[in-house]
Amino acid sequence: MPNPISRRSLLGAAGAAAALAPAGARAAGPETDKVGFAIVGLGKLSLGQLIPGLKVAKGAKLAAVVSGHPDKARRVAAENGLPADAVYGYDDYDRMAQDPRIQVVYIVLPNALHAEHTIKALKAGKHVLCEKPMATTIADAEAMIAAAKATNRHLMIAYRCHYEPLNLDVMRRLRAKSLGRVRQINTTMGRQADPSDPSDAWRLDAALSGAGALGDMGVYGISAARYLLNEEPVAVQAWAWTDPADPRFKETQDLINWQFRFPSGVIANGSTSFAYAPTMAFEAICEQGRLVADPAAFYGGNRLTVVKGGQAQPPVPAPPVDQFAREMDWMADVVRGKAPMVSPGEEGLQDMRLMQAILDSAAKDGATVRTDWGYRRAVDPAAVVDIA
Ligand code: NAD
Repeated sequence: MPNPISRRSLLGAAGAAAALAPAGARAAGPETDKVGFAIVGLGKLSLGQLIPGLKVAKGAKLAAVVSGHPDKARRVAAENGLPADAVYGYDDYDRMAQDPRIQVVYIVLPNALHAEHTIKALKAGKHVLCEKPMATTIADAEAMIAAAKATNRHLMIAYRCHYEPLNLDVMRRLRAKSLGRVRQINTTMGRQADPSDPSDAWRLDAALSGAGALGDMGVYGISAARYLLNEEPVAVQAWAWTDPADPRFKETQDLINWQFRFPSGVIANGSTSFAYAPTMAFEAICEQGRLVADPAAFYGGNRLTVVKGGQAQPPVPAPPVDQFAREMDWMADVVRGKAPMVSPGEEGLQDMRLMQAILDSAAKDGATVRTDWGYRRAVDPAAVVDIA
């Protein structure tokens, strides 16, 4: 394993003087020193993962809740010890601008609402952490980045795998060529969508979700191929098939498979579906073996199997960490100037553009679409994010 470049070195001498210990090793700071987060949208992810994550975060804390359902918002605020004036509605960004308790606004709404709320929060002077997929159109993603630049605020996309120890471990093994050069990546990201669940109903609605399974699950595979290789695809071919008799898919497509070609010669195959058994897995096939992460991106229980010379070694479980706390702690450190931005809006935009290229190719039954528009990620997560 190479010695990871610490984020101190990346921040330079001035940053290093003030830098904290690695996020994982760092002790929780006093409550008053934590960065305050307002959570926008109190659905499954917010209630199930993010608010609990903020309870164990070391440098971030819940400061406010923002919802269209005042009763629910008041209940969630009370359960989490927030005062009544820390409850906001979706139209309250002017009041939020005056609230120094809130430094970061975390957008956890259906995808089509990300752009509007991100831009309002930025204009209210807040930094924004926005859920994936960043938006439903490339134009919206570009407008979000422009708003962050214009307001001089941070815009981070909530790509939790950039901060997750197992994914970081695989990235470092690949950078170190521990099994020789990587030749091929395979990613499978999908599940069965349940239209009776309101949280899935909007994901099957094109206006709210954008690209259905591709934006919800497939984006993990697109992003993974890129961060595993630390390079960008130059061309894509894709194919889609949706059962016309399946009532779930009136507006969005179901099964999409794609093939990215990378400048190094690596081929990355990706698959997504809202009508197959749950999987969030990837494998990297190298010259001397395979790294199999299955699951690779569940909220917990991820496992890595190293297969060398045809022999599978005992699976390595991912350390039991709260991925969401790590991601929010990273954002808190970015806001404090103590960590570099790893998953900026530009990362979300790159995935949006690649998703569009996949859809364009699939619409032409696998025609090659060039994707070599010159994007390069600014910061390699493997070089700066601590594993433990
Ligand atoms: P959800 O449906 O459970 O919650 C969405 C919330 O938005 C609800 O509270 C709902 O009331 C509110 N809302 C506001 N306007 C709405 C409208 N017009 N239609 C529907 N709901 C509306 O969804 P979720 O699973 O919490 O997902 C929210 C976001 O988080 C999505 O962008 C999703 O892709 C993302 N997400 C990310 C992860 C991850 O691991 N990073 C996991 C799940 C979801």
